[in-house]
Amino acid sequence: MSDTPIDIIGGGLAGCEAAWAVARQGLAVRLHEMKPLHFSPAHTLPQLAELVCSNSLRSDDPHSAVGLLKEEMRRLGSLLMEAAGATRVPAGKALAVDRERFAAWITERIDTHPLIRVVRGEVREIPPPGATPVILATGPLTSSSLAASLAALTGAEQLAFYDAIAPIVDAESLDRSAIYQASRYDDGPGDYLNCPMDRDQYLAFIAALKEAKCVPLKSFEEQKYFEGCLPIEVMLARGDDTLRFGPMKPVGLPDPRTGRDPYAVVQLRKENLEGTTYNMVGFQTKLTYSEQQRIFRMIPGLGAAVFSRLGSIHRNTFVCAPEVLFPTLQCQRRPDLLLAGQLTGVEGYVESTAMGLLAGINAARLARGLAAAVPPPDTAHGALISHLTRTEAKHFQPSNINFGLFPALTGKKIPKRLRGEHRAKEALESLSRWQAEQQLPVA
Ligand SMILES: Cc1cc2nc3c(=O)[nH]c(=O)nc-3n(C[C@H](O)[C@H](O)[C@H](O)COP(=O)(O)OP(=O)(O)OC[C@H]3O[C@@H](n4cnc5c(N)ncnc54)[C@H](O)[C@@H]3O)c2cc1C
Repeated sequence: MSDTPIDIIGGGLAGCEAAWAVARQGLAVRLHEMKPLHFSPAHTLPQLAELVCSNSLRSDDPHSAVGLLKEEMRRLGSLLMEAAGATRVPAGKALAVDRERFAAWITERIDTHPLIRVVRGEVREIPPPGATPVILATGPLTSSSLAASLAALTGAEQLAFYDAIAPIVDAESLDRSAIYQASRYDDGPGDYLNCPMDRDQYLAFIAALKEAKCVPLKSFEEQKYFEGCLPIEVMLARGDDTLRFGPMKPVGLPDPRTGRDPYAVVQLRKENLEGTTYNMVGFQTKLTYSEQQRIFRMIPGLGAAVFSRLGSIHRNTFVCAPEVLFPTLQCQRRPDLLLAGQLTGVEGYVESTAMGLLAGINAARLARGLAAAVPPPDTAHGALISHLTRTEAKHFQPSNINFGLFPALTGKKIPKRLRGEHRAKEALESLSRWQAEQQLPVA
C-alpha cells in the first residue's frame, strides 16, 4: 500500500463525502478545492460542501426512494448525513438544513481530520496516473480547463455541458385506452407508446404552451441551446407547426384504430427495462413544474399522469456514464481515475453525495490492493449505479433516485401503498449483506 495521499479534486458535496470515506479507511487524502480563489458562477461561500440552491435534501420518509438513499448513506457512515442531522431546520417531512451551518460544520470536520489536507486552488488538468487513485468530483460547473482535460480523456462526445431533461411518467398512471404502441414505419408491435392528438387537441395544447410560465434563466445559463435539445417552448416560438415537425411528428405512426397518421403525436419511450416508467421523447422544457403538470395532462392518455421526474434545462457537466464508467465509478479508459458526484451523471444533492461516498470507498479499496465494490442493484446506491452503467448510451440522461431505477418487483403482488416500505426493507437487508461480504465500513 502506497503512502501517497489519494487526490480528490473538488471539495463540494461529493468530494467531501469521498474524502471522509477514504480517511475512515485509514488512508491519507489531499482534497483540492478552488474556492475561495475561484468561484463557479453558482457558488458563493468560501466553505466546502456548499448547497448552491435549495437548502433541502428532499424527503426523509424512509419509504421514499430518496429517503432510502439517505438511510443507506447513514449506514455507510456518511459525513454529510451526519452534518444534515446536526444542522437540520424544520421542514415537515423533508430534511432541510441551515446552509451556512451545514457547510461550516463539514468544513470544520474536514479541516481538523488528521488524514485530510485541504489544498486551495484550481486544478487545471487531471493529474497523470500515479501511485494512488484520483477522484474527480468537480461537479456540474467544473472549471473550463479541467472540463477540457476530462473531455480529452473521455472523448469530447462523451461529455455534456447542458442537461436537457424531459419528464418521466409512471406507466401505471397512463390511460392505455387513449394510447397505442408503435415504432415509426414499423409493422411490428413497436417500442414506443404513442399519444395521438387531433387538430383541435393540438391547437389547444400549443395555445396553453404559449401562455405557460417558464423558470427564469440564471445569468450563467443565458447561452444558446444546442439545436438537438431545444426546449419545446423555444421550438414553438418558431411557429405553430414546429412541434409537429419535431418531437410531435406523427408521420409513419398510423393509429391502429383509424389506420391513419394522427395530426400530432407525443411519443413515450421506456425509461427502464421493466417498463415501469416512460420518458416523454423530446419534451425537454423550462416550464415551471406546476405548468408542466397542468399542460402535459392535456395530452391524451396523460390525463391522470404521475410524473416521477419533470423536465428542466440547465448548465450541467456530466459524462455519458454508460460509455465512460465501470459500475465501480472507475473510468474505463483510466481505471485509476474515479468520478464522483454530479459529474457521473446522477442528478441532485443527495445522489451526488452518494456517488462521492461510493467513489471514496472504492478509491481506498483500490489503494489497499482490494477489488472495488459494486452495491447490489436492489439498494438505492445500486439502482443509481445501474442507471449510470446499464442505460442505453444514446438515451442516457442524468437522473434523481426513484423506484423506477430499481429491479422490477417479482413474486407476490404488493399493494401500491406498501411498495415503498417493501423496497426499503429489502434494500436495507441487501445493503447489510453487502457490507458484511465486502467488509465495508459501517456507521
Ligand atoms: C445552479 C445549480 C443549482 C442546483 N440546485 C440544486 C438543488 O436545489 N437541489 C439539488 O438536489 N440539486 C441541485 N443542483 C444539482 C447538484 O445536486 C448540485 O450541483 C451538487 O452540488 C452537485 O454535487 P457535486 O459534489 O457533484 O458538485 P459541487 O457540490 O458543485 O462541488 C464541486 C466543487 O468542485 C469545485 N471545483 C470545480 N472545478 C474545480 C477545479 N478545477 N479545481 C478545484 N476545485 C474545483 C467547486 O468549487 C465545488 O466546490 C444544482 C446544480 C446547479 C448547477
